[in-house]
Amino acid sequence: MGVLPELGLVRSDDLGRVLASVDAEHVPYAGGTELVPAMGLGLRRPAAVVDLKRVEALGRIAVDADAGAVEIGAAVTHRRIAEHPGVRRHLPVLARAAGRVGNARVRSTGTIGGNLCFAEPRSDLACVLIALQATSEVRSGRGARTLAVDELVIGAFETSLSADEILVSVTVPFEPAGMSYWKLQSYERPTLGVAVVVTEDRWEITVGAAVERPVRTVLAAGDSAGLDDFAAGLDIGADLCGPAEYKRSVLREHLRTVLETAP
Ligand SMILES: Cc1cc2nc3c(=O)[nH]c(=O)nc-3n(C[C@H](O)[C@H](O)[C@H](O)COP(=O)(O)OP(=O)(O)OC[C@H]3O[C@@H](n4cnc5c(N)ncnc54)[C@H](O)[C@@H]3O)c2cc1C
Repeated sequence: MGVLPELGLVRSDDLGRVLASVDAEHVPYAGGTELVPAMGLGLRRPAAVVDLKRVEALGRIAVDADAGAVEIGAAVTHRRIAEHPGVRRHLPVLARAAGRVGNARVRSTGTIGGNLCFAEPRSDLACVLIALQATSEVRSGRGARTLAVDELVIGAFETSLSADEILVSVTVPFEPAGMSYWKLQSYERPTLGVAVVVTEDRWEITVGAAVERPVRTVLAAGDSAGLDDFAAGLDIGADLCGPAEYKRSVLREHLRTVLETAP
């Protein structure tokens, strides 16, 4: 990693000022766990970073019992998600996944917003949030819009955000009964993540990490042929953890085990 070039810093606790500052040359900065190494490698060369961490609204976690959802600010760290009593109660699978992200440093500084907006395929949070059908609130100086996390993360290192937009928060419906998340991981990031929601009549399956972005499908319970077709059709990539066919066979085995042992 080389020496960082000269860099400006915009720091404010006012969301309006932050929004007015963000553009292609002035990029959002939260924990810096992805952005700083990318700048060090010369892959990103912004004129300035716009610090999001001082904006109170971006650091909030709010449980809305009436709506049956938890709103998590974009600058909330993995560690806070893992430890928050409301998240642990209503979204235990998400809390556990956040508690197993990377290492203690990444969990203490890395944020949910940075995870989704960097859109590194090997993400636990994107897979779990898409499985939970979470939505995201996105804002710029031009206004606000709400979109599914599934529409926010659109490819490897690719989101649907414009250069002047930031992710403000993610709203996650309370976890349904019968949900689980499992990951295959040999090194620092997951190589395969699988979220499953099993109900009496449905199998909801979301696969992440091994694919460019998480892929979700819903099958009728017991549709083993559909399950095989789904696994066969995934565009799984090879990495240091193994070839695509290895990951596909692990995926098939895991799905059969989870779904066939479901009550
Ligand atoms: C060693 C290591 C291990 C890891 N292991 C895992 C793992 O096991 N599972 C997993 O899921 N992840 C893992 N990660 C990824 C980790 O979750 C992310 O690095 C972290 O969440 C990024 O958040 P950040 O706040 O540091 O983002 P930053 O580095 O600050 O930002 C990342 C990118 O997102 C943009 N951005 C940040 N916030 C916003 C926002 N609110 N709106 C718009 N754009 C924004 C920035 O401009 C930048 O492009 C690992 C990372 C590392 C370095």
